[in-house]
Amino acid sequence: MRLVVVGAGGRMGRELMRAVLDNADCTLAGAIEREGSPLLGQDAGTLSGLAPCGVNVTDDPLPLFASAQGVLDFTSPAASVEFVALAAQARLVHVIGTTGFADADLARIQAAARHAVVVRSGNMSLGVNLLAALVRQAATALPGFDLEILEMHHRHKVDAPSGTALLLGEAAAEGREVALGDVSVRSRDGHTGARVPGSIGFATLRGGSVIGEHSVILAGEGERIVLSHAAGDRAIFARGAVHAALWARGRNPGQYSMTDVLGLAD
Ligand code: NAP
Repeated sequence: MRLVVVGAGGRMGRELMRAVLDNADCTLAGAIEREGSPLLGQDAGTLSGLAPCGVNVTDDPLPLFASAQGVLDFTSPAASVEFVALAAQARLVHVIGTTGFADADLARIQAAARHAVVVRSGNMSLGVNLLAALVRQAATALPGFDLEILEMHHRHKVDAPSGTALLLGEAAAEGREVALGDVSVRSRDGHTGARVPGSIGFATLRGGSVIGEHSVILAGEGERIVLSHAAGDRAIFARGAVHAALWARGRNPGQYSMTDVLGLAD
């Protein structure tokens, strides 16, 4: 499968190029950075810490999208909504790992998914998606337990709570048959009053080089369950994204999740 990596110079962009170059079932069809980036013209293999591969970083997605089959996109919400519109024009597979979308962005992605095969997930790792399935099950089985989600990431992360924390919150809300937006408490400060029964709380920590740690706590009277996941290497997200692209090839246009890709929907 011919794959283009956008945001090629980013932490995840470099991992994605490595994952594509390491996978015998795909080839790197292009590497894109924004206009004016000092990385333009550099070899994508060298940039990702491997041997030169003959693909240079460019800032023009159009010719690359025209000849590719899929796009791997871990950039920013503003960039992803533009790239997914181009992917729709070219009828491509578009794997979106970017997080921090506003509702208006999500509506634009949904519109693009009429023509593109979009796989979007706040976390592309197998472990986190299995964790989400376990959280859904636990939330259903223990309706009286208080649910709290704690996450920690590196100091450069710009959005909070993390896409993964929200993904886990969605799983918990699904298990409780409520809408996350109606029950979530995204932060607490000052005199907050007692905990509202049935709410799903989020707590965010930032610092150092932590790749991603998430715990879902179910606290009952006299007992507590903690379900957690720690990411030790960004390569897990990149390999998951390549797996998602290969899975999506040839599917009908629409928006899919990693739960669909991994067959964990039920
Ligand atoms: P990063 O290091 O800042 O990388 C983002 C890259 O995208 C940068 O190189 C940036 O270039 C580039 N970019 C932004 N706008 C662009 C545009 N219009 N055209 C071309 N390139 C553009 O961030 P990161 O840590 O890799 O994370 C990226 C995203 O992935 C975040 O939303 C993060 O939360 C998410 N993420 C998701 C998962 C998952 O499994 N779903 C895992 C890890 C991270 P500039 O530096 O020039 O702006």
